[in-house]
Amino acid sequence: MSGRVGFDGRVVIVTGAGHGIGRAHALTLAGHGARVVVNDLGGAVDGSGSSGAAERVVEEIRARGGTATASAGSVATVEGGAALVRKAIDEFGRVDAVIHNAGILRDRTLAKMSDEDVSAVLDVHLAGAFNVLRPAWPHMVEQGYGRIVLTTSSSGLLGTFGQSSYGAAKAGLIGLMNVLSLEGARSGILVNALSPTAATRMTEGLLGELADRFDPQHVAAVGTFLASEQCELNRQIFTVGGGRVGRIFLGVTPGWYSGEKPASPDDVLDALDDICSLDDFIVPESGADEVALIQKVIGTAD
Ligand code: NAD
Repeated sequence: MSGRVGFDGRVVIVTGAGHGIGRAHALTLAGHGARVVVNDLGGAVDGSGSSGAAERVVEEIRARGGTATASAGSVATVEGGAALVRKAIDEFGRVDAVIHNAGILRDRTLAKMSDEDVSAVLDVHLAGAFNVLRPAWPHMVEQGYGRIVLTTSSSGLLGTFGQSSYGAAKAGLIGLMNVLSLEGARSGILVNALSPTAATRMTEGLLGELADRFDPQHVAAVGTFLASEQCELNRQIFTVGGGRVGRIFLGVTPGWYSGEKPASPDDVLDALDDICSLDDFIVPESGADEVALIQKVIGTAD
């Protein structure tokens, strides 16, 4: 395929690529010359059961002239993540990028959820990222190149009623991105995140009449770019859906300075307007940037 974004045989793992957004990522990547490892357990939206979803997407890719292999294991276990990376190495000899997209839903309020609802969701979304990235990382470090795309959600970054385990896992992925983007930069490994909105089985009935506008392909175009060599961004969160692509970011305000003497709780109450003001916020690129801001505010900067 012609175009500036291309993969030239690079090997990309896509987790949860049997349906929805992951399937669109896999087809788009393969259409741009990537060799794709299509991972999917093939379960239902709540994670139960399994089917041949990964194999079906591999067949679709091959029918279009692309290169792909299936890995039907679960990313929710350490062994499953290791087997997935081993598959990439055995089949294609390398791993250049990982899009961690696998996900399940167990929507329940905190009052009603079971222990298993909590662990099942955290295991796929959050532990799943560690399970795949830990074995993939040494290969990326050794080759001095890697791209990682994590799939977060507005549920975690902004909040959705009834999705506390899901939201916590999705926000946790941003913590992972923030740290890995620092650890990977010296080895050419860039880490970014997608916050999608797409019409898939996961959002069935939620988007109403707008569903037609939210083709997962809108998300796949951005995911494919973020997984490519042409992407030189690091630690960005792109919010994508329905043809709109924007950014979500964490800002920090200079805030209120109480002086060298510790404030009283009454002082804090009196200062709330200043503390909550969004004036002059910065978008830090690491924890060190906030330390520099604190030093500036309290007057100890060089
Ligand atoms: P989907 O259900 O169509 O796809 C999720 C895929 O993950 C499924 O194919 C499923 O079999 C697979 N999967 C689940 N558990 C797995 C495991 N343990 N190992 C391997 N594969 C597993 O849903 P989708 O909407 O395409 O979701 C893709 C990602 O996008 C998810 O991480 C989801 O949380 C996120 N997301 C989606 C939306 C949206 O609007 N659709 C919004 C925010 C975030």
